[in-house]
Amino acid sequence: MRAFVGTFVFPETGLVEAGALVVEQGRVVAFEKKAPEKAERVELSGFVVPGLIDAHVHLSFSGGPDPVAEMEAEPREATLIRAVGYLKAYLKAGVTAVRDLGSRDGMAVGLAYAVEKGLISGPRVVAAGRVLTPTGGHGHRHGVEVDGPDAVRRAAREEFKRGARALKLMATGGVMTPGVQAGAEMFEEEELRAGAREAEKRGAVAAAHAQGLFGIKAALRAGVKTIEHGAFDRWDEEAFHLFKQESALLVPTLAAPDGILRGEGVPAFMVEKTKKIAERHRENTLEAWRAGVTIAAGTDAGTPYNPHPNLARELFLMAELGIALEDVLRAATSYAARALGMEGEIGTLRPGAHADLAVLEENPLTTARAYAKVRAVFKAGEPITRA
Ligand SMILES: [Zn+2]
Repeated sequence: MRAFVGTFVFPETGLVEAGALVVEQGRVVAFEKKAPEKAERVELSGFVVPGLIDAHVHLSFSGGPDPVAEMEAEPREATLIRAVGYLKAYLKAGVTAVRDLGSRDGMAVGLAYAVEKGLISGPRVVAAGRVLTPTGGHGHRHGVEVDGPDAVRRAAREEFKRGARALKLMATGGVMTPGVQAGAEMFEEEELRAGAREAEKRGAVAAAHAQGLFGIKAALRAGVKTIEHGAFDRWDEEAFHLFKQESALLVPTLAAPDGILRGEGVPAFMVEKTKKIAERHRENTLEAWRAGVTIAAGTDAGTPYNPHPNLARELFLMAELGIALEDVLRAATSYAARALGMEGEIGTLRPGAHADLAVLEENPLTTARAYAKVRAVFKAGEPITRA
């Protein structure tokens, strides 16, 4: 039994309390005023939050100016080895869980396995494997091209059979595929429904890349639980309503356009497409939050100038928009846990949760810059780094 003694920030209530977090076999068992006599004491100085969660990363992309070209030019093994390095960097930054929403040959599934078996050190990885997209659709160069509900169903089953624990569907076009319009409809509602249903059956979360309003609504009606990006058109009341009715989350990935617009060496078509949607993207995110839509933090890390890890940047951008700091913390903890299908397991300090902890130098409810100053990290109660 181990007792972590310090000042804790509880995402659900927004309370900051001094006390002892009691951990047994890697899980939280209690929060008490004083550490039990028989427990091994670990004193922590700073502000302790649950280990942070990035709900949208691409471990096979480098975060360089043109990550797709870079990846295509290298052997598969090199991509894999780079990803192993990224995982270590995540842990050091206090990110103890990530959701990979599309990797080269679905290799993030193998990385998830390697972390779980203790072969490599890294955050918990919930991986979608390969993305599913219609023929010629967004992401087709590294995804599985499928058309019609039956084919989507079969492809989804195939990804789950390979070990995926999430599913990524393309509801609209995107910025990173040349010749594809960012807001254009991709999968039809029936195709999205077939995929979402397969995820639901396994207790997994289906995510949809969706930038146009039509695609966002189709995905929500189809039972997709996380909407990625959500840029492009101005949303209407129906969209806000659908989010709440379906208990779905928005993962805005503000760090993605933020990186692309730095521009240097980024393919011109990406910069052009991003310029058109960046402002609307920020406005949509703030309007959605004001309308009561639940927002989870995801970076889309791996895309241009969006390095692993970049969660601190995403959280800073959320706060800069005007999202309350309590919700910024929830976005990276309790809400992100829902996006990973791990609510109650991670992203919380409540009994039963994995004892994944990040110790921040400053109070994250006072400044969003706190996430960039991580003093110590624990995964399942074991130290990763200690100041
Ligand atoms: Zn992405």
